[in-house]
Amino acid sequence: MRYVSTRSKSSQVRAHEAILQGLAPDGGLYVPDSFPTLGLDTIGSLCDATYEERATHILSLYFDEYTSEEIKSFTLAAYGEKSFPRDDTTKSQGATRQAPVVKVGNDHILELWHGPTSAFKDMALQLLPHLLKASIEKAGESKNVLILTATSGDTGKAALEGFRDIDRTKIMVFYPAEGVSEIQALQMNTQVGRNVHVQAVKGNFDDTQTAVKAIFSDSRISEELEASGWRLSSANSINWGRLLPQIVYYVSAYCDLVSTGEVELGSPVNFCVPTGNFGNILAAYYAQKMGLPINKLICASNENNILTDFIRTGKYDVKREFFCTISPSMDILVSSNLERLLYDVAEDNELIPSYMRSLASKGEYEVSAGILDRIQHIMWADFCTEEGAKKVIRQVWDKYDYLLDPHTAVAYDVCQKYKKVTGDTTPTVTVATANPYKFCETVLESIADDFHDKVVSGSGLELIHLLYSKTGVPVPKPIADLEFAKTRFTGVIEKSEMAACVKDFADK
Ligand SMILES: *Cc1c(COP(=O)(O)O)cnc(C)c1O
Repeated sequence: MRYVSTRSKSSQVRAHEAILQGLAPDGGLYVPDSFPTLGLDTIGSLCDATYEERATHILSLYFDEYTSEEIKSFTLAAYGEKSFPRDDTTKSQGATRQAPVVKVGNDHILELWHGPTSAFKDMALQLLPHLLKASIEKAGESKNVLILTATSGDTGKAALEGFRDIDRTKIMVFYPAEGVSEIQALQMNTQVGRNVHVQAVKGNFDDTQTAVKAIFSDSRISEELEASGWRLSSANSINWGRLLPQIVYYVSAYCDLVSTGEVELGSPVNFCVPTGNFGNILAAYYAQKMGLPINKLICASNENNILTDFIRTGKYDVKREFFCTISPSMDILVSSNLERLLYDVAEDNELIPSYMRSLASKGEYEVSAGILDRIQHIMWADFCTEEGAKKVIRQVWDKYDYLLDPHTAVAYDVCQKYKKVTGDTTPTVTVATANPYKFCETVLESIADDFHDKVVSGSGLELIHLLYSKTGVPVPKPIADLEFAKTRFTGVIEKSEMAACVKDFADK
């Protein structure tokens, strides 16, 4: 199997090169030049398989360079009991523990937060480091990989957990001292592992991210690092190695619905996905392309509803106000992975570079009526306001004793709107991307009218206790354990000190 850039077909690379490079040299994203298919027989046989086996099967279709024994070792390491322990946070017994589908009223919810950081990024970031290490070996690369990340919260922690103690890699995470929650900082500063480093930086997320980008584009720094045996990489969400593992849980969810008799093998389902950078919903589209019976993909946004407008009108326009919402992981205006969908539905490949040029110079682009029609055939889109999300958290809690986090609440709300507007009765699965305990303050505010005053006085750990005492919903172990975790990383540095910090860490 070969991979090509969304911006030119000329350079074809193998999977390991796509993963090592991340971005294609022309600035495009790597996509497979053709998609393998899953027949109904295969889907049927995967119904009896474990999550690790389902993952091994799907990954093997894309990695013909590796034996299935090798791939099996990656999936066992990524999705085994160590990262996804059996616990009491899953409502339905006997469900696939890594990505269980639970029933809430008449709706199905696919819980993707059972990994080590209680957010869905674990589903990909537990596997990517193994793929990356294998890619280094496959490429005969003599240097090791130093992952450098700026984070506003969730990605940094999930990347740290994924890369910790993985041979031939080191990971360094910078976070803005004024830009993450207390719990998020605690999660990162207590990170264990011999190849990790975490550093708070003065300023906000933009400052930190800009400084990290400057390090990536400074050839003097990369030369110095290369001289000491390190190659920089970002492992960000446009890497093919992060997208591929996400296809697995859509297939797995479908298999579970078949196994429990909720749908008949071959009947379609819908998925409703809370969307930011468009990676998660794109993986669902790829699953559909492979033959998974999916009727409609519902793209749910928060008040940063640029994708809602795009899917309705065909015009992508970033010249708009940016909102900091209660679902921060969806606060994005340029959804990078949309480029991969456009590549797929555009009949003329020259169009993609022209859209991206227009986006860079004018802050907008518009697709043709034909392309819009194809996108609308695949997707339906709407958004949910801040108040709407809080209301949904409260309603679902009151009615079903089920707690939604603010990101999942956005999707839940949009799913109800979809059903009402279209009258579609196809079984619909809402994708849950974070555990509610990651966002205690918002969840507490939503479920209690008079809560506002008390919230202000509570520390992060106190709010966890408070939410537990009010709801009795089990606290996931990684969050409960924070109370006893030892802080390893302290102090705040200036932006100007970051490059030196990276070099020190590489030489350590
Ligand atoms: C990253 C993230 C999202 C958005 O996913 P994309 O793949 O970027 O669309 C949604 N919810 C949570 C909790 C996330 O961490």
